[in-house]
Amino acid sequence: MSDGAIDRIEEAAGTAPRARPRPARPLISIIAPCYNEADALGPFMMEIAPVLDGANFDYELVFVDDGSTDDTRAKLEKLAGENSHVKVVIFSRNFGKEAALTAGLDHAKGDAVVVIDTDLQDPPELIRDFVAKWREGVDVVYGKREDRGADTAAKRMTAEGFYRLFNRISVVNIPENTGDFRLMDRRVVEVIKTLPERSRFMKGLFVWAGFSSVAVPYARPARAAGETKFNFWKLWNFALDGFVSFSTAPLRVWSYIGAVVAFLSFLYASFIIIRTVFTGVDVPGYASLVVLILFFGSVQMISVGVLGEYISRLFVEVKRRPIYIVDEVLGDDGASNQND
Ligand code: UDP
Ligand code: MG
Repeated sequence: MSDGAIDRIEEAAGTAPRARPRPARPLISIIAPCYNEADALGPFMMEIAPVLDGANFDYELVFVDDGSTDDTRAKLEKLAGENSHVKVVIFSRNFGKEAALTAGLDHAKGDAVVVIDTDLQDPPELIRDFVAKWREGVDVVYGKREDRGADTAAKRMTAEGFYRLFNRISVVNIPENTGDFRLMDRRVVEVIKTLPERSRFMKGLFVWAGFSSVAVPYARPARAAGETKFNFWKLWNFALDGFVSFSTAPLRVWSYIGAVVAFLSFLYASFIIIRTVFTGVDVPGYASLVVLILFFGSVQMISVGVLGEYISRLFVEVKRRPIYIVDEVLGDDGASNQND
């Protein structure tokens, strides 16, 4: 896959890449969030180790155990004991993938950072392509899913709809069919580390930081082991987080809806007045009244619900609780923790 993919690299949005001096033997941090991935960790290490060991860069593997309830923690502890490249950040409970990625960025020391899933849906061999592009001066290299055959049709369709709407209303554009799988230069990581928000839609934050970027296409395989951690409800809330964090359009649209409805009401009122003048009062109208009451009742409730989405997030932000709590860090000598 390596060579073919590099030939087909596409230019993406952002500033144009410029030749930047890169260290001759840089340190690359690989951030791998894990939530109940005990069965996937073995195959993951088997695949990623040969990619990293023979490479022309140094590396560290930063695993974040996001409050797993299976053997993940024991397996990571063992890995950290045997392998000096491995760092493990263990959360006190499950804080979610966005928090796990944030912790990974806080603990990574590399000149560039790669974010990768541990279920082998993000092919580790692409890391070498990512690093090669970064060496040419690009700041962000992201994987673009060309073939999502491994996902269900329903997931593909909802994802497509989400990105289309998101890109239309948000302040940033997320390239379609990209996930978190990407390489970021240290400068980009430092920008993201300064972002203080608690509700962290990382895909949006990555793009928000800007800088030059290119896409490397790949076919996304099915999970190596275990099952997806994102059910419908989680994905729905994830999408809402994305919209609310990156757009105020859902808030503002209600003034326009209100104006349109007021105009239509005015037309209808004029019609009734004129009809009454010419044909006199007629009593029927019960059905239309009920329909109108229900219609305006639900329009108002939806608009209050949208307010609620924003206010609940404001509430979370003003509380300023830490994004994650670390139980233990293995194989590390201190980190620049966002929560300090
Ligand atoms: N993950 C996590 N915390 C969570 C849910 C998921 O750290 O609360 C990790 C998970 O272990 C995996 C990655 O996020 O490495 C992607 O999750 P998953 O494969 O379930 O998502 P999908 O690929 O189905 O979108
Ligand atoms: Mg997955």
